[in-house]
Amino acid sequence: MKYIPTIGIECHVQLSTKTKLFSEVDNDARGKEPNSCVSPVDYALPGMLPRLNGEAIKFAVRAGRAMNCEINRSSRFDRKHYFYPDSPKGYQITQFYHPIIGAGYVLLPSGTQIRIEHAHLEGDAGKLTHFDSYSLVDLNRVDTPLIEIVSQPDIHSAKDAHDYCKELWRLMRYAGVTYGDLYNGNMRFDVNVSLAPEGSEKLGTRAEVKNLNSFRSVERAVEYEIKRQTKILEAGEKVVQETRGWSDATGETTGQRSKEEAKDYRYMPEPDIPPINLSAEFIEEQLKDFPLMPADYREKFGEIIAGDTLEVLLDYPELMQKLDEVKNVKLMSNLFASVLLAEEKSAEYLNDLPSAEDLNTLAEMNAAKELSSTATKEVFLRLFDPQMKGRGARNIAKELGLIQENDLGALEAIVDAVLAKPETAKAQDDFRNGEEKVIGFLVGQVMKESKGKANPSAVQQILREKLTK
Ligand code: MN
Repeated sequence: MKYIPTIGIECHVQLSTKTKLFSEVDNDARGKEPNSCVSPVDYALPGMLPRLNGEAIKFAVRAGRAMNCEINRSSRFDRKHYFYPDSPKGYQITQFYHPIIGAGYVLLPSGTQIRIEHAHLEGDAGKLTHFDSYSLVDLNRVDTPLIEIVSQPDIHSAKDAHDYCKELWRLMRYAGVTYGDLYNGNMRFDVNVSLAPEGSEKLGTRAEVKNLNSFRSVERAVEYEIKRQTKILEAGEKVVQETRGWSDATGETTGQRSKEEAKDYRYMPEPDIPPINLSAEFIEEQLKDFPLMPADYREKFGEIIAGDTLEVLLDYPELMQKLDEVKNVKLMSNLFASVLLAEEKSAEYLNDLPSAEDLNTLAEMNAAKELSSTATKEVFLRLFDPQMKGRGARNIAKELGLIQENDLGALEAIVDAVLAKPETAKAQDDFRNGEEKVIGFLVGQVMKESKGKANPSAVQQILREKLTK
């Protein structure tokens, strides 16, 4: 029997606000001492009162817009109770009944649409590190603002699961709401996978693989679950509804615990934080300079930039914004993809891109054949070099002696000088006798005489004219 996989994904995105969701301590704890970014609120000391961070609300509005979601004008927080040492409060403050972000959708590069059920704001938990006979608690991450994005079960392959997670990562970075640092767990994915016989109306029992932190592990975990569940169903057995963990090392998921139900969490409205009521003006204000999203760029540049190049470039919102400013999109997209991203310092260079004006000058010099394609690439890279920056494409090209001689009068003089040299006499005779390929030798001589600055195709044309006269 053929089984159809159905996949739903929950994604937690760490917001890059300055301070935490309910307290005024530093939200970016990367590289900091454990328990150094913690307030009495995070410790849940008696008498503490959480205070909602307005910046997180603004970020949520932008995140919702990036996913074509409705922004709910009124939302509120709830307590989700559980007991574990990563949460001193004994509950998580989240939005269960009235989330801030309503329904929407995400378009994959393939054009497939994945619906968003809703997305809500919540505080993160702390981090436990386990040793043989004890565990250590680090509360730096407690109440870091998260947006949890819940998809509809619209995904039916490991590839689409991968593409969906990657697209979310892009959207959140384009919207400017997260560092998107996957290595530091800025985005974490929980993947629900179930199988049902082809043609069946009912979904199968699902297993949830928790805490995946790369697109590749999402893809591999889904592939693994499809195989594992197929085997169980083919043996006539039943899939157990449970939470499973993933190991990148073994490439396997393993059962962790049976799945809790909503009632286990004893949800209740959070009494310490008032409801959030957003005016239409507030929402509009947050979205007034909203940037283009990947789907907009696909529409805008789809005819100009090759599909696979475009998908590579779409990982870099700063490059797409720059492409939107320059005149020669085709040339610049090729230089970005094949020269800049191939350069070992590209990560550093991406932080500070040259101006559109400098790039436009470079494109003009290339179009006017003042720069060969090799010279164009060389000048292009220097535009990113902190040492050369700000000097402008033309000055850099001059300093490096890369400007091609296109002045026909000047080129003719050089060609004449070369043809007057006795060592080129034989080649000239050979050419006149029909040996086409010696033209290459002659062009080479002229290039040498011009110290590499002559435009080779112009040289060849002049040589041909003179030799056939
Ligand atoms: Mn959550």
